[in-house]
Amino acid sequence: MAESSSNPAPPPPADVPAEGGEDAASTSKKAAKKAEAKAKKEAEKARRAAERAQAAGPSGAGAQAEDLATDNYGQETHETKLSPDVVEINLKTLGDEHVGKTVELRAWIQNARMQGAKMAFVELREEGNWTIQGVIAANAEGTISRQMVKYVGGINPESFVVVEATVEKPLEPVKSCKVSNYELHIKKCFVHAAAPAALGLTLAAANRPIANFSDEEPALEEGVEKLTVESAIPAASMLTHLDNIVMHKRAPVQQAIADIRIEVKDLFRSYLKNLGFKEFEPPCLIGAASEGGSNVFRLPYFEKEAFLAQSPQFYKQFEIAGGRKRVFCIAPVFRAENSNTPRHMTEFTGLDLEMEIKRDYTEVLHTLEGVLLHIFRGIKERCAEEVELVRSVYPSEDFLLPEPGKEVRLTFAEGQKLLREEGPEEYHNVSDDEDMSTPQEKALGALIKKKFNTDFYVLDKFPESARPFYAKEDPTNPKVTNAYDFFMRGQEILSGGQRINDPVELEARLRRKGMDPSSQGIKEYVQVFKDAGVPAHGGGGIGLDRVVAWYLNLPSVHLAAYYPRTPKRLLP
Ligand code: ATP
Repeated sequence: MAESSSNPAPPPPADVPAEGGEDAASTSKKAAKKAEAKAKKEAEKARRAAERAQAAGPSGAGAQAEDLATDNYGQETHETKLSPDVVEINLKTLGDEHVGKTVELRAWIQNARMQGAKMAFVELREEGNWTIQGVIAANAEGTISRQMVKYVGGINPESFVVVEATVEKPLEPVKSCKVSNYELHIKKCFVHAAAPAALGLTLAAANRPIANFSDEEPALEEGVEKLTVESAIPAASMLTHLDNIVMHKRAPVQQAIADIRIEVKDLFRSYLKNLGFKEFEPPCLIGAASEGGSNVFRLPYFEKEAFLAQSPQFYKQFEIAGGRKRVFCIAPVFRAENSNTPRHMTEFTGLDLEMEIKRDYTEVLHTLEGVLLHIFRGIKERCAEEVELVRSVYPSEDFLLPEPGKEVRLTFAEGQKLLREEGPEEYHNVSDDEDMSTPQEKALGALIKKKFNTDFYVLDKFPESARPFYAKEDPTNPKVTNAYDFFMRGQEILSGGQRINDPVELEARLRRKGMDPSSQGIKEYVQVFKDAGVPAHGGGGIGLDRVVAWYLNLPSVHLAAYYPRTPKRLLP
């Protein structure tokens, strides 16, 4: 908050004359002199104030020498009081029934400006982009003084204030605010928590599309901020956003993305619970690298070493082995991959499920397809406003869904054939036995969109070489597995498939993959299937961050995470 020269001043200390005693006479003389000097000073002050009032003219309501409004504004203290009949409101539920009522709003100052000496306008913001215009005008009675108007008009943006006001209908809708049909006529305004005069990142800049996602400091000449053609408001880099995490989070676009993310989790959870799935929590700290490989974070664990879970895969299966038929979990996943791409983070949130297979692994595939379609339809239904808000910053086309009953499921080989026959030149020789590269996947996504008018599809029957040791081979063609990936706008968002539940078959496949069935971590995994009969089962892992990002067609998955973790970024 800017220290205002017209801040209400504490009352001057009372002059208390000394009480009787030996020096009482001289003391009272001194006191009289002091009082005389004080009276002179007061008289001079009053004369100057009268002069000022006269100069301001007869209507100079706020120019009174004495500020009668000091109880109505300033820094909030324990003595700050609002009127007893005040009604607490929030902007989302403000309605005609509030018009004329005295209300309390606790909000951030988004903007404050003076309109002449006696009037000021403020934009007050609750969460997201819920804003309302506040007006304050000096009155003849002096309960709203000029000093008060100046104080309110000078509050630093992003300060948190407590306002008492009457709700009025403006003459014309206030286009700049989300709540456009009402405005607040401010009677009291207290700063609860002041923002500094200069913000590291303004709200307007935080709400612009991010200019640069590099984890490196931009070169000096590039500048952290660059002016774009469409807007005079400078866009900032992801680094600046993360260095100013508070303003990054206050940006309505970020809150809209977060709100969509919350709904996606909720849609996932509620759909599966309705189908009888049980939720569980897998551990993040594990004693052996679950899926092997180099992309595992290691950390000291007392005298030993621990690892951060690369996936809840084994634990989902342990739940099935442990007597559950259908389980799901929502948990962090850690990958020590030095992948500096818009698709990767070192920590992301996995939406995972695992279920018993009764007849055929496509039961799992269809369940996963069902939950994702439910999520996509749910976003459209529940988050229309948030999606619009995100689009105003990051434009995107509607996410196209297949018509019910016309879901697109191609085998990996069919996908490769499509690329060979109709894809770009460089993919005319792709093989059915080799995994796809990311550009290849994107090219296939474009072809599928053109052919089937959908942004969502499944590729099934991945080659054996492209899947981990626990993937079940197709009994009719061991060159491929009962495993699939799901795609949104040509980018992978899910991997899954049937798992091997027979320990003999599992050990054989481990050996074929060049792995030792008796190695630490693997031995214990295989033992689970020896300990008791485990039914056929399968599942899949969905990357929550990618679902949100690709649905909205964001330029990077980092925007969908609350606190993105990348190889170079661990703060905040
Ligand atoms: P990619 O090939 O894109 O690196 P992956 O094959 O390693 O992904 P899986 O191990 O199958 O991915 O993980 C399942 C899902 O988790 C992916 O489909 C994706 O949605 C998400 N995911 C995987 N790795 C990351 C990551 N580093 N950052 C964000 N999400 C990820």
